[in-house]
Amino acid sequence: MEKIRNIAILGSTGSIGRQTLDIIAEYPDRFKARLLVANTSASLLIEQARRFVPRQVIIASESLYPRVKESLADLPIEVMTGSEAVCEAVTQPDVDTVVTAMVGYSGLASTLSAVKAGKRIALANKETLVVAGSLITGLLETTGSVLYPVDSEHGAFYQCLVGERHADIEKLILTASGGPFRTTPAERLATVRASDALQHPNWSMGAKITIDSATMMNKGFEMIEAKWLFGMSHRNIEIVVHPQSIVHSMVQFVDGSVKAQLGLPDMHLPIRYALGLPDGRLATCNYKMTVDDYASLTFERPDFNKFPLLETAYRAAEQGGNVPCVMNAANEVAVAAFLADSITFTQIHEIVEKTIAWAPRVDNPTYEDFVASNDEARRYAQSLINS
Ligand code: MG
Repeated sequence: MEKIRNIAILGSTGSIGRQTLDIIAEYPDRFKARLLVANTSASLLIEQARRFVPRQVIIASESLYPRVKESLADLPIEVMTGSEAVCEAVTQPDVDTVVTAMVGYSGLASTLSAVKAGKRIALANKETLVVAGSLITGLLETTGSVLYPVDSEHGAFYQCLVGERHADIEKLILTASGGPFRTTPAERLATVRASDALQHPNWSMGAKITIDSATMMNKGFEMIEAKWLFGMSHRNIEIVVHPQSIVHSMVQFVDGSVKAQLGLPDMHLPIRYALGLPDGRLATCNYKMTVDDYASLTFERPDFNKFPLLETAYRAAEQGGNVPCVMNAANEVAVAAFLADSITFTQIHEIVEKTIAWAPRVDNPTYEDFVASNDEARRYAQSLINS
């Protein structure tokens, strides 16, 4: 019988956080919610805390702290606020696994803190690897921390690579659904609205990642995430559009053999796999696919002209240093502006490119360099939007 793992969920009120709690509730003899962290969703955080009674709860937004504190006063839960509290809480000795499910760059400091404390990380915040992959992966060996991917594609790579030698990998084949605009004519993309982009065909996700899927920036991020997680060159990572999202990704080996991992497009599956590692898979009656439902699986090349952020991501991976960090910062600002109807869909790419062209290059960035590059790039991208 495995020991009960104490789980810290950074971003418990988001899509991944809520699904992680579903799994914790399903396996009370395997998992316990130890720490719940939310940014601003106080009501849901309170509801989750009353149900799971974790040792600690953190609401990052300080103005909401009094309300959360008061609502949980009758329970033995320590309520805290602020991002420093998160960095501190993830290092506590009784925290076993940290699920990093916050959105974007905001997850970097707490992820680094958990890595330095040698924790098991179920990594759902891909932006932290895009921004600072060199820093994070460089720390794994000395701290004993392990990254288990929660992203479905990377969970697929992980499963395909069990029992394989790194030298035998020829390439990673990263599948993409193609997003809501796969069949939309390129010339119409200038006028699509946030509400159109938020209709993802297969995956139910938060707003930021859904827009990233629509621009395919998400797939560019995942290419960089895979590069760091599996120690691969970006040149050996190929993106293939697979509209059914049943093949979660594939690995081609030097002998021509290809392994694929399949399953329904439901994030519970990769979260379940990541949480089960390395003890073993979590049995369930749900999420079973039948070939009758998916008699035909199709694959096509991505359209780099229609989705130019794919090329931007490969170039950022090639350039390395702080370039992926700058790309991510500009993208976060541009996506927020698109969601607020302040810019058009195609301007997201323009803002990212202009910011990369403007930003000073740093070849071997330290943590402080990443913080500075992120801040400067965000300010510059915002000034482009304002003008
Ligand atoms: Mg994914």
